[in-house]
Amino acid sequence: MPKLRARLVGIWHWPGYRLFGRCWAEGCGRLMILHSPWALYICERTPLGISVTPEGEARYQAMVIEQAEDDFAA
Ligand SMILES: [Zn+2]
Repeated sequence: MPKLRARLVGIWHWPGYRLFGRCWAEGCGRLMILHSPWALYICERTPLGISVTPEGEARYQAMVIEQAEDDFAA
């Protein structure tokens, strides 16, 4: 079961993404709330119009290492 903080962060970010966020699919960019279920189905299967920066990749690697240290702590 995920930690309480991680679950709360998810609940906090969901409305921002689902109601006010813009679609990241290549060539879309509409508000997420304006997607019909079928449009969402298509966009979820379209490559993203964004890419990970080297800073983001480094941050992700640091998070993975931190999580591994938590998981395997003696
Ligand atoms: Zn879209």
